[in-house]
Amino acid sequence: MSKKKRIVIALGGNALGNTLAEQMVAVKTTAKAIVDLIEEDCEVVVVHGNGPQVGMIQKSMDTNAPLSVCVAMSQAYIGYDLQNALREELLNRGHKGMSVATMITQVRVNEADPAFQNPTKPIGRFLTKEEADEQAKEFGYIMKEDAGRGYRRVVASPKPAEIIEIDAIRSLLEQGQLVIACGGGGIPVVNENGHLKGVGAVIDKDFASCLLAEELDADFLIILTAVEKVAINFGKPDETWLSDISISEAEKYIGEGHFAPGSMLPKVQAAVKFAGSKEGRAALITLLEKARDGVQGKTGTKIHK
Ligand code: ADP
Ligand code: MG
Repeated sequence: MSKKKRIVIALGGNALGNTLAEQMVAVKTTAKAIVDLIEEDCEVVVVHGNGPQVGMIQKSMDTNAPLSVCVAMSQAYIGYDLQNALREELLNRGHKGMSVATMITQVRVNEADPAFQNPTKPIGRFLTKEEADEQAKEFGYIMKEDAGRGYRRVVASPKPAEIIEIDAIRSLLEQGQLVIACGGGGIPVVNENGHLKGVGAVIDKDFASCLLAEELDADFLIILTAVEKVAINFGKPDETWLSDISISEAEKYIGEGHFAPGSMLPKVQAAVKFAGSKEGRAALITLLEKARDGVQGKTGTKIHK
């Protein structure tokens, strides 16, 4: 048995950028942050989001293309760029023996999940009110305002129930490979008498990484995003950044509505769920560039028992 700390990292939108060109540049910084953690003697599994990419992929094909297929495409496309950047960063830093693999991952959801009746997950790019109204009319999309940053299309985001390829992910990890899995939250499928059927949804990558971290018996779930810490009274004059909170404090803040649904709320909920799932487990939410400082306990918001 290895004594390395096992970590599941969830990468947010800022790790990948919003366009093809931005992603090629962004993955270089992202690869540095991930290899930093490997050098901290951690075993790492990487999960990434796909909000902008999955919207872009669907738009470039056919607006009726199944979202599940678009998620699969986003896993391959993002996995390709990440694999490439990670390989280069590992070689540059002398880690010659470590290979990188992307697992196309299906995640089973519950057909009766109430999320299918209440779409909350923002995908695609940010739009003005006028553009949003136009797309709602033309394609029947549901549009919502996203945390003061503009309008976005929202889709159903059911909770992940089962990671279909979990054994394959585990065996790669146990052979010392760097694995990218559950990209974009995983390809959402339902089980129809043994047949896995894709459904029109996008699972939140924060919840998928929580489930993956539980299934892999990880020590730490690290959610890397665009803020160094989580705040209460976010954006208000009495904004307070949190460094270290217990599960019950986090639950109290969730109840008081401090975290925006579709952005910070799922992260805090995923962190709480993972930290509470077994003795010794903790979660951290921090800035991508601060990942190493975060595992060293120097920054970020840590959520623990
Ligand atoms: P990601 O792409 O990493 O999943 P999101 O944009 O979905 O990131 O969520 C992170 C964003 O959530 C932050 O950049 C910030 O604008 C917003 N946010 C909302 N509420 C809070 C809060 N209470 N504390 C910190 N950030 C918050
Ligand atoms: Mg997000």
